[in-house]
Amino acid sequence: MILLVDDTPENLISLKNVLEKHGFEVDTANSGEEALKKVLKNSYVLIILDVQMPEMDGFEVAEAISGYNKAKETAIIFLSAANTEFRFIAKGYSSGGLDYITKPVDINILLLKIKTFYRIYEQNQKLSETRKALLEEIEFRKEAESKKDEFMSIASHELKTPLTSVKGYIQLLERGLNKGDIELVKSHLSKAQVQLEKLNGLIADLLDISKIESGKLKFNQQYFDLDQLLDGIIEIMHQSSPAFKVVKNGAVNTKIYGDEMRIEQVIVNFLTNAIKYSPGTNEVLLNVRLEKNELYVGVKDYGIGMKPEQASRVFEKFYRVEETSYRFQGLGIGLYISAEIIKRHGGHINVKSVYGEGSEFYFTIPIAQPSSQV
Ligand code: ADP
Repeated sequence: MILLVDDTPENLISLKNVLEKHGFEVDTANSGEEALKKVLKNSYVLIILDVQMPEMDGFEVAEAISGYNKAKETAIIFLSAANTEFRFIAKGYSSGGLDYITKPVDINILLLKIKTFYRIYEQNQKLSETRKALLEEIEFRKEAESKKDEFMSIASHELKTPLTSVKGYIQLLERGLNKGDIELVKSHLSKAQVQLEKLNGLIADLLDISKIESGKLKFNQQYFDLDQLLDGIIEIMHQSSPAFKVVKNGAVNTKIYGDEMRIEQVIVNFLTNAIKYSPGTNEVLLNVRLEKNELYVGVKDYGIGMKPEQASRVFEKFYRVEETSYRFQGLGIGLYISAEIIKRHGGHINVKSVYGEGSEFYFTIPIAQPSSQV
């Protein structure tokens, strides 16, 4: 928009009409004071300023405007009598620009100048948009980089812990063998095996992440018996966490279409988390039911729970609830992988949680193969 500033109403009206005819949006002010007020309120591409005005002349107005941050992109064209002496007031007009035109106004020259200033203004706008987008991109990348660094350090630590245990058990095994104590050897062997399983799981998760990233996470979908799968999972959980009871509520009694191993991975992840994040308790519920044409599987615990803003982020890659991350080991990728698996089954994954009381992580997937794939 252009602001015309002139103390003579006829000048204002005639110039306004001409500029509007050429497609410009025009605002007017008939004194320096009014112009300053308008500049504070509105954004102008250009101000056309009469130099000779009573009280505050055009140069004084321009000097005042040069101090306004809001108008730092605004250009000024002075309208002056041919014999006016120009004062140097370039300060503050680094990007906006200054120019003048003598009276009587040659409208073609004025239009030429206006168009040039509009072009400069638009280019400046584009430049600052590009600059903003670039700065945002840099910030985003910096954050991603630092998340990755943090992840690398946690991941190395997580991998090193079971590895150190395995090394320790192997040394103990050697001693047990030398002593000929078979029972001791068996016990160390099974402990080493548990740690190796942990290591295996961590590496599998890391591989899954890179497969998701490169779009290479493959699925092998077919009909499978979910109740049988759940019984198997409960058995495994019992072996790895004997102190916990997994109570199954409900049954589906029908075959489900999906990648059995991947669905198992999601349920085991829910259960492992439910046990891990529920110290001091000894029971988790495994709720299973059919809802219309969908399977519902939920794992409910009575553990530490989460605040709503934390619950809304748990499916993000590398996210861990900060206030508890020092108490529990983890990489913050299990739920991200689970979410990807459920998404790829055309389902939904979510959590209901009450801080300090517990959570129910759940997913739903269609029971049958989508007709488009049959
Ligand atoms: P990890 O457990 O390895 O950190 P996950 O992706 O499985 O990674 O979980 C992400 C985060 O979600 C966890 O770090 C934890 O803060 C939170 N979380 C997951 N499950 C539960 C749960 N059952 N109760 C409370 N918080 C949980």
